[in-house]
Amino acid sequence: MDDGPLNPDQERLWHALGLGPRWRERTAAGGADAAAGPVPAPVAGLDWDGLEHAVASCTACGLCQTRTQTVFGVGSRTASWMFVGEAPGAEEDARGEPFVGQAGRLLDNMLAAAGLARDEGQGEPVFIANVLKCRPPGNRNPDAAEVQACAPFLQRQVQLLQPRIIVVMGRFAAQCLLGTDASIASLRGRTHEYRVGTAAIPVVVTYHPAYLLRNLADKAKSWEDLCLARGALAGVGARPA
Ligand code: SF4
Repeated sequence: MDDGPLNPDQERLWHALGLGPRWRERTAAGGADAAAGPVPAPVAGLDWDGLEHAVASCTACGLCQTRTQTVFGVGSRTASWMFVGEAPGAEEDARGEPFVGQAGRLLDNMLAAAGLARDEGQGEPVFIANVLKCRPPGNRNPDAAEVQACAPFLQRQVQLLQPRIIVVMGRFAAQCLLGTDASIASLRGRTHEYRVGTAAIPVVVTYHPAYLLRNLADKAKSWEDLCLARGALAGVGARPA
């Protein structure tokens, strides 16, 4: 990852996410040096149920006009693993759950192979969410205003969950959350970092399951990414009670 000055596209994405300089490649010296900024009110003080209600009733960007329903996220709210994708697609919009349909089944199979599961009792629990909680029409790329409007929800989800590892799936989510225009290829294979308060959460970048459906040869690389994430999690201390 280029640690030099951000280019205009990077600046736009960072500011759109409202993240500030919090995502950094993990370094031997301990990674990012900037603390997380405050989550804008009223999201900052919400618990899980309050946050889910706030998302369900959100009209902060134009996607509220075309969605069938919001897609908050799924899985255990005490999970150590968090998976983050881009935005709901048509099936997710219809069902209100992220990563369903063919890509979702592939994700579930990969999770199962790693001993993980979105459903309680089926494996080590995970929580799955997207950068955006509403479907962009026609599955177009989200624009900067939409990302900016929705960013506090994902920030709060991370704060509430306090995952021990975050796996970012796909180019858009990786670029947004890492504040870079670097390619997936250049972001994979190393551990990045996300700071929440004083906690530094390891972040691993991998391919989006929909991409893997079209590029089966890269499934092996995605497996490597999960193994990298597993190793990164093993190196993290226990989450404070
Ligand atoms: Fe609100 Fe996010 Fe949906 Fe936009 S995408 S309406 S900010 S929940």
